[in-house]
Amino acid sequence: MTDALLSVKEAQQLLLRHFEPLGDELIPIDLAINRVLRQPIYARLSMPPFDNSSMDGFAVRSADTNLASENSPTHLDVTSDISVGVKPDIMINPGQAARIVTGAMMPDGADAVIPVEETNLKRMEPGSNPPNEIWVYSRFEKGDHVRYLGLDYKKGTKLIESKERLKPVDIGVIAMQGISNLPVYKQPKIGILSTGDELLKPGDEWKPGNIYDANSYVLNTLCTQNGCVCLKLGTASDSEESIRSILNQAVVENVDLILTTAGVSMGAFDYVRSVMEKDGEINFWRVNMRPGKPLMFGSFKEVPLIGLPGNPVSAYIGFEVFVRPVLNKLSGLKFVNRVSNVAILLESIESDGRESYLRVNIFNNNGEWQAKLTGHQGSGNLMSLVIADALIIVPAGVKYLHTGSKVEFWPMD
Ligand code: AMP
Ligand code: MG
Repeated sequence: MTDALLSVKEAQQLLLRHFEPLGDELIPIDLAINRVLRQPIYARLSMPPFDNSSMDGFAVRSADTNLASENSPTHLDVTSDISVGVKPDIMINPGQAARIVTGAMMPDGADAVIPVEETNLKRMEPGSNPPNEIWVYSRFEKGDHVRYLGLDYKKGTKLIESKERLKPVDIGVIAMQGISNLPVYKQPKIGILSTGDELLKPGDEWKPGNIYDANSYVLNTLCTQNGCVCLKLGTASDSEESIRSILNQAVVENVDLILTTAGVSMGAFDYVRSVMEKDGEINFWRVNMRPGKPLMFGSFKEVPLIGLPGNPVSAYIGFEVFVRPVLNKLSGLKFVNRVSNVAILLESIESDGRESYLRVNIFNNNGEWQAKLTGHQGSGNLMSLVIADALIIVPAGVKYLHTGSKVEFWPMD
């Protein structure tokens, strides 16, 4: 255990070193949205997998239309009818055509498709028989309205990267390869625990001195959005027995990480820390940041535990700075850290020298980002986060930033 006051970077690195991506599982493609592939997907079929028509019309030999014009149309015999899902077992000879629909396989001999609206028929009724003949009024080139084998991609092409979250269209591309099950990383299972005698559940009757629990709801949503399975462990009262018994339950439930809020600072009721000192192991518990200096990392019976501060804004920022990268790493993602942007300050800011995460509104002024504080930065004021667009980061050691200074910011989702 260290009592040292760690920098944000030191604490982040120490945390990340502790976690490795979880094991794998095979899941049906229907459940694959947002999951993270373990291996890239390569094309086992070219796409399209055969030459096919991109229009409803007639498959022809383009050379047959060389002399066709409005005044002197060309006549072709319609010798067959090709529908989707079959391999046409025919040959188109000079002077012949086959009726064909969109997506149907091109027959041998044909090298172009004439859309029905460009023939004398103009359109075809559903269920109608093919005509005996058609008239063509213009010249068609080889390849017109034909989608060739491999036009989209060839067999062997890398289609989808591993270590990224699957998006809806990624799943479409994989489905078109006929793949039904995917090897993905297991989802992290996160136990979430609020602590404090003052906490009520939404729905409880309010009594003086009490407040409703916000943290477990925010964390539950953040973890779920980050692809985790969440186990709400409820609320522990401010006693070692209560906290210990719920932590034991998390161990039984085999969670990959426990997140607690409150009870980790210097107060007379900060029992999360005392339980961890007695029954667990604490790696660090103080980080040089604002808000959220009391931030603990350790393990309880081998299960990693991050103890976030109780104030709702501090808990949220603790999640963004420390927990999100850990979840990204556990989930198997290639990039665990956030990308930041740079904004120009619209006002001067005083800081206390700790690395500070402040809530701001962001404005776009001709392509340049500008930042303005959302108001009082107290760490209990959750509304100042509700109306914020981003967090700006004032580096450690900086006590004053003048108007017009450049600051790093993280957009909020
Ligand atoms: P503590 O870390 O226990 O000293 O709590 C710091 C502050 O955060 C106190 O004002 C608590 O009432 C408040 N707080 C603690 N837990 C929660 C929670 N789950 N939801 C909202 N506020 C909380
Ligand atoms: Mg408390």
